[in-house]
Amino acid sequence: MPSGSNGQSTGAGALLAILRDGHARTRAELAQLTGLSRSTVSQRLDGLIDHRWVVAGDGAISSGGRPAAVFAFNGSAHVVLAADLGATHARLAVLDLGMTVLAEQAVELPIDEGPERTLEFVAAAFEESLAGLGHDPAAVCGVGVGLPGPVEHASGRPVNPPIMPGWDGFCVPEWLGARLGGGRRTGPPPVLVDNDVNIMALGEHWAARPAVDHLIFIKIGTGIGCGIISGRRLHRGAQGAAGDVGHIRVPASDAPCRCGNSGCLEAIAGGASMAAALRAAGVEARGSRDVVALMRAGDLRATRLVRQAGREVGAVMASIVNFFNPSVIVLGGDIAEAGEQVLAGVRETIYSRSLPLATQHLGIRASELGDRAGVIGAAVMVVEHVLAPEAIDRAVT
Ligand SMILES: [Zn+2]
Repeated sequence: MPSGSNGQSTGAGALLAILRDGHARTRAELAQLTGLSRSTVSQRLDGLIDHRWVVAGDGAISSGGRPAAVFAFNGSAHVVLAADLGATHARLAVLDLGMTVLAEQAVELPIDEGPERTLEFVAAAFEESLAGLGHDPAAVCGVGVGLPGPVEHASGRPVNPPIMPGWDGFCVPEWLGARLGGGRRTGPPPVLVDNDVNIMALGEHWAARPAVDHLIFIKIGTGIGCGIISGRRLHRGAQGAAGDVGHIRVPASDAPCRCGNSGCLEAIAGGASMAAALRAAGVEARGSRDVVALMRAGDLRATRLVRQAGREVGAVMASIVNFFNPSVIVLGGDIAEAGEQVLAGVRETIYSRSLPLATQHLGIRASELGDRAGVIGAAVMVVEHVLAPEAIDRAVT
């Protein structure tokens, strides 16, 4: 990658990164910002314009003489496809590279139908959306998929996902790329896959702009997990298993967990375990959504369980706050949608148990995007991949 005297990239990708802030700039401004010569800037702009990532605009900035041409990020020439697949429902969207949502739909789609049937439905729905928008499949520059189970991000394969029969080891990028890439001169589009909590963290981080450097997204649904944004990047860990806080041991509990251990956070504060506790007390509750519905209807047992869950999650998060020192914690998932009942318990415990320095400027809030966090995050994952400076440099040269 070409680099300037300060060691930072000065290739076409770096120029595009500057223009992505939405301001149109002249060659002279770009030369000043990068330390490159005007002729080098012109040459790199030509490459970016050829690939339709940049458009030349009408010169409006005058420097005493004739107006200079200005250049702007062209977010609308390419689209990304984003899918957030849950256990029973999916949310699908088509966005442009500027993150404008062009089409979005929520559909019933049971993941236990297996990978081929599920992904065929997703692919057909994407094709229909693209046709409706008048976009050629060649305009698709990437596909992002979130799955409700562990995923090895590098290969895009689910690994022993507990609620996804038939998906273990299935190569989602290969299948979906081949299905959507038919007839494309440029070959199949890149397909990126990650677990639902990671893409929700990406979505909330994007929504939290202007920039938050260190954010933790915690999902309290049927199970419990968190996505970690460190230094504005998603931290996946060595195998992609980072953030699996649901199986951290809670002292004082020996409740059996689906992972085979006992005393896990999820086994007392997850939606599935709370529904089971209610059923044991003779209350009809199938899952996390029923727990929240019962609480909203004024059921005292459900309310007590949800408040206690908030405190249990808070106790685990207090250690994580001391360890990681995030500036924002975002709560999402079915149970978190119970709102203040959960937030209050989480806040109370974190503030009383974490170190003052770590909580001084800590924000703890409910998800801004709600059930759209995943699909927005899946698109963020693709846009950041496609527009990464080194990827742009490679494409342009
Ligand atoms: Zn466990």
